[in-house]
Amino acid sequence: MAEADGATAAPRPDPDPDGVAWIEPPLCTKCGVLVRIYPTNYDRWVSLAMVELPAKDVPEAFRWRLARVPGRSPIPTDIVAVRVRGIDPLPSEPVVPAHRMMCIPEWGEP
Ligand SMILES: [Zn+2]
Repeated sequence: MAEADGATAAPRPDPDPDGVAWIEPPLCTKCGVLVRIYPTNYDRWVSLAMVELPAKDVPEAFRWRLARVPGRSPIPTDIVAVRVRGIDPLPSEPVVPAHRMMCIPEWGEP
């Protein structure tokens, strides 16, 4: 089995010509690394890490998963980020950590 879906190395800009959600590459404003920005299923946006990690390495609060939605969303994408909650992922199951978990800037920490 190839690695779980989507863990490709190259970030792809949104090819939607009508997509005006963001024009700049999605870089974290805190630490400057590439992130993936996805709408969530409750009208917020979240920066996710570019990689997936086994669930055991990601605190529960930072576990996300990408889900396809049927094309009736008003949001110009068919991928939404869904918090992994309620379910108990297997320790080895890949989840997408929120970028916040890996952000190593001057986040207010001494
Ligand atoms: Zn960051």
